[in-house]
Amino acid sequence: MSIVNVRDIVENKKQTLKRKIVELRDEGIIPKLAVILANDNDASRIYVGRKRKLCHEMGIDEVEYVFDEKCTTEELLYTIEKLNNDNDIDGILVQLPMFSNIDEQKVLDAVAPEKDVDGFSSINVGRLYKGSKDIVPCTPKGIVTILKELEPDLAGKNAVVVGRSQIVGKPMAALLLAEDMTVTICHSKTKDLVSHTKMADVLVVATGIPHLIKKDMVKENAIVIDVGMTKVKDKLVGDVDTENVKDIAKYVTPVPGGVGLTTVFSLMENVVNLAIARRKK
Ligand code: NDP
Repeated sequence: MSIVNVRDIVENKKQTLKRKIVELRDEGIIPKLAVILANDNDASRIYVGRKRKLCHEMGIDEVEYVFDEKCTTEELLYTIEKLNNDNDIDGILVQLPMFSNIDEQKVLDAVAPEKDVDGFSSINVGRLYKGSKDIVPCTPKGIVTILKELEPDLAGKNAVVVGRSQIVGKPMAALLLAEDMTVTICHSKTKDLVSHTKMADVLVVATGIPHLIKKDMVKENAIVIDVGMTKVKDKLVGDVDTENVKDIAKYVTPVPGGVGLTTVFSLMENVVNLAIARRKK
């Protein structure tokens, strides 16, 4: 078994994307991301900071709109409308979650589909389920990147996704289906979880429950992708008990240093793809 070196996978891909961005800049196209932060949660600020840092490293311009707890849905809609009409902006990212008084879906749906860098608007969710891969949510997109490095031939294999959130589980299942995998989605009401996880050639776990997945729940030689990130006593812990599972799985992604890295990188890819699609029309 091996712990997947996600850092190396991302580093290689970064070089290719950097070259593409240099070419675009030479043509006068400077990809630009707008980030909307409307919550005061520490984790979100850290995520936005990571995105900012990678944008700078890659040569993508980035601008942030930070709101305090007095902000309203209408104010956010107004800002999004302005960004939708701003020709310099290629991608608009609404950091989730937002303050509890905000109508999240209304805000997400206000983002123009051609600038919806996370693919969370209802239109782009629908397109994903129709099989379009134009705009794919960053975490599942990054996971497919990892899987393709590990196993080029996914078709026909069993995939089990544990978790059915809008941002990870559901789009993940749609993408694996698009790879011709046979997909099962499990959730908190699933009866006899182990009977499903044991069938998985590819097991993707996104529940936020530390060490939910143990060795006896994993098929021999499975690829196990650990999406979970929960702070336990100041340490980030995944949903997979890696020490235990590594004896039976073929590959396991680590936490930290795993899926989180590909998520932020996929965001960069999405900004660049949106810039190309919109400005080279
Ligand atoms: P949500 O809380 O939105 O969803 C959790 C899902 O897990 C739900 O569908 C829930 O089922 C399911 N679930 C809960 N308990 C069980 C159980 N005992 N057995 C099976 N399924 C269960 O979480 P997210 O999808 O937003 O995030 C999941 C984890 O991934 C978190 O730790 C988060 O921090 C991390 N994350 C990591 C990212 C990265 O880039 N590395 C990006 C995004 C998230 P039900 O629907 O029935 O409630």
